[in-house]
Amino acid sequence: MSDYPNSSRPKKSLGQHFLVNHNAIARIAATIPEGANTLEIGPGRGAITDVLLKRVGSLVLVEKDNGLAEKWEKRAASEDKLSLVHGDVLKCLNEVAKQHQPDWIAGNLPYNISGPLSAALFGLNLSGGMVLMYQREVADRIRADSGSKTYGGLSVLARHFYNVKRLLVLPPGAFNPPPKVHSAVLLFTPHGHQPCCEYVDLQSTVRRGFAHRRKTIANNFRDVVSMDEWKMLEIDAGARPERLDYAAWAKLTLLLTTKTSSHQEVNALKSHLQKS
Ligand code: SAM
Repeated sequence: MSDYPNSSRPKKSLGQHFLVNHNAIARIAATIPEGANTLEIGPGRGAITDVLLKRVGSLVLVEKDNGLAEKWEKRAASEDKLSLVHGDVLKCLNEVAKQHQPDWIAGNLPYNISGPLSAALFGLNLSGGMVLMYQREVADRIRADSGSKTYGGLSVLARHFYNVKRLLVLPPGAFNPPPKVHSAVLLFTPHGHQPCCEYVDLQSTVRRGFAHRRKTIANNFRDVVSMDEWKMLEIDAGARPERLDYAAWAKLTLLLTTKTSSHQEVNALKSHLQKS
């Protein structure tokens, strides 16, 4: 898209660092299969959008910036497969996903909201996947394995539905204006296993579990999980939260939800534990 006036100067408050590296743009767009129904978060001036439009089946954009949204609104009026939602993705993501049922989500994410936005995105069970640009440190936290210092809540949540792979690392010069830090693109593809707990419940467990990283897991769940229960779950109660892999967090979540639930769910937990 060429007709963006210079008057619409990049807004720091909206994390506007526009991608100008053609190789990166091509690599990101190429991960999305031809004909896929796609959602792009923050199209900005259209660096990725223009390439996506040539290959996808339908494209819905969510853009908060008033000036940019107006441009895309006009363009959508003349392109059948393009539509625009003018708004804050943090507020409208679930609604838009429900309405448009995307197979894939793409986005060079505004860095200032990437944490809460990712927590919302990782709860969407997409048939295709997601290709998302992050600040490199955040990307490293998300793809970290248990046991590493950078492993945290988002690393667990990402694995509820997805396998995570790093596709690219980009220097500040790949963007205009250049950010102060390097960036990285992550590719999320569905692992296809049926999770044993609900995503919202996993979120609560992880929030509590990582609230005090230096405390043991037994301490973080004191008064809620007994020593016998840690044994039954086969989780080392003396471990710090970063030692627990996704499967352990999911089992723990199942236990916590069954405690407030019916006999049926308690039986579901028992049979899950017998199988695992
Ligand atoms: N996709 C473009 C590119 O790669 O050049 C722009 C990426 S820029 C890093 C982030 C984009 O997200 C901007 O267009 C910005 O206006 C938009 N944005 C920022 N906060 C947003 C929010 N809460 N909801 C929707 N869009 C937002």
